Amino acid sequence: MKKNVAEIIDVCNEIYNKGLVSGKAGNVSARFGDVVAITPTLKSLSQLNEEDIVLVNMEGNVLTKGKPSSEVNMHLGIYKKRSDVNAIVHTHSPYATGFAFSDKKLKRLEGFGEIKNPYLPFIEYEKPGTDELAKSAAEGIGDDDVLILKNHGVICVGDDLKEAMLLAVFVEESAKTQFNTLMLNSVEELD
Ligand SMILES: [Zn+2]
Repeated sequence: MKKNVAEIIDVCNEIYNKGLVSGKAGNVSARFGDVVAITPTLKSLSQLNEEDIVLVNMEGNVLTKGKPSSEVNMHLGIYKKRSDVNAIVHTHSPYATGFAFSDKKLKRLEGFGEIKNPYLPFIEYEKPGTDELAKSAAEGIGDDDVLILKNHGVICVGDDLKEAMLLAVFVEESAKTQFNTLMLNSVEELD
């Protein structure tokens, strides 16, 4: 478990350093059997120690000291629906979240796994930290590995932490590419 907790911290540092999360936003979890290790509430993902990671059971009971992320029920809801998912990375990465705040859909670009849908699935806005968001996210992700939360952010899931983290990086990069394309298409050609 100690090694796994260390891996969560590595992923948190990596997504923070890549600018996918900032301030105290974002949360990361991993499932080990019937226990989920998750980042704490109200702490920056850039400043976590091993003792900050909170263990909860599938019913959401806290097994260690500390308070889990306010999105713990969203993570648990997805784990309960998806036996193939063992890690979840939730960010407000700026380009993908820009799309989430707009009426533009994000295409699934080539470069990360099978393309099941031409566009990334999304759910309508629900207040962060609520049971409504937890329920909607667990249903909305279906069997996909990404979910855009309208007016909020992005969820990426994977078989392990590294997969979920790499996907979060890929989604942000492909949102940046699509943003650049939209901008370039909107300017007049120079003479
Ligand atoms: Zn969030």
